[in-house]
Amino acid sequence: MNLKEIYAQLTEDDIKVLKAIERRLKTHEFVPVEILEKETKLPLHRLERSLYHLNKLKLLRRMSGSSLGYRLTILAYDVLAIHTLMKRGVLAEIGDKIGVGKESDVYLGIAPGGKRLAVKFHRVGRKSFRHVARNRPYKLEDSWLLQSKVSASREFAALKELYPRGAKVPKPVDKSRHVVVTELIEGAVELYTKPDIPDPLKALEDVLVTIEIAYKDVGIVHGDLSEYNIIVVPSTSEAFIIDWPQYVEKDSPLAERLLRRDVEYVVRFFKKVYGIPLDVDEVVRRLKEL
Ligand code: ATP
Ligand code: MN
Ligand code: MN
Ligand code: MN
Repeated sequence: MNLKEIYAQLTEDDIKVLKAIERRLKTHEFVPVEILEKETKLPLHRLERSLYHLNKLKLLRRMSGSSLGYRLTILAYDVLAIHTLMKRGVLAEIGDKIGVGKESDVYLGIAPGGKRLAVKFHRVGRKSFRHVARNRPYKLEDSWLLQSKVSASREFAALKELYPRGAKVPKPVDKSRHVVVTELIEGAVELYTKPDIPDPLKALEDVLVTIEIAYKDVGIVHGDLSEYNIIVVPSTSEAFIIDWPQYVEKDSPLAERLLRRDVEYVVRFFKKVYGIPLDVDEVVRRLKEL
């Protein structure tokens, strides 16, 4: 079942129960049924029906130790974020997966007016999470969700600074929990696929201008820039820099090295694939001029 199908099966009781468990995230690894009864004010038979349903949909994990308790799965947080975004009128529908990164799943979203959106579910520590969970006592700081929420907040904050200053980045729309919503760049392809671009110099300029706005106007360095985090629209030769959560502040001790590396990857790729010669030192020097 995909996210959309799962979301469609949820009842109001289900959402109420998920939210009650979420509210206890900081105090309980597993939330006991007695607490859920008090928090949701649902009659026990409805609560139990809901818990059964949510468990079957793999939105809950059950802990049957000295007492019965439940915690949310990653999928449940995805569902809660979608629910919030729908209630806010940001999202009308969630569609298919359109991108997978090491640290996220990106879905197509539809806004109430029909506009298409990119919905990025941050998944920090996806690989290490099981290991941590198994070998250490529960600590919220280790939690996959908390790290992913920080990642989403950082990305959304960066985009909100960058976009109004004219940087070529997707327009930020909203954020809930570990999920960031931006405009979908229509017709975009990833630069690493080496698409035919009528005016590759224009695409390169978009990238360099965006690096410059980030550095000079916002005071940040992307830090993970390469042909994998640049998308281009072949029909217009526009380029956009995506994937910002790991940005570093300009005055961080890492900033200079990362700025140079970001520029190096971009310049090298445009030279190799599109034959545009540019000097890395020259570009970096220009960026550092006031
Ligand atoms: P990484 O593995 O580099 O950390 P990530 O998991 O952080 O990647 P992103 O690079 O932000 O994820 O996005 C993954 C993919 O989703 C992109 O390569 C791109 O194909 C697609 N994508 C993301 N945002 C948009 C957008 N606004 N418009 C169109 N496509 C997008
Ligand atoms: Mn990356
Ligand atoms: Mn990426
Ligand atoms: Mn990333």
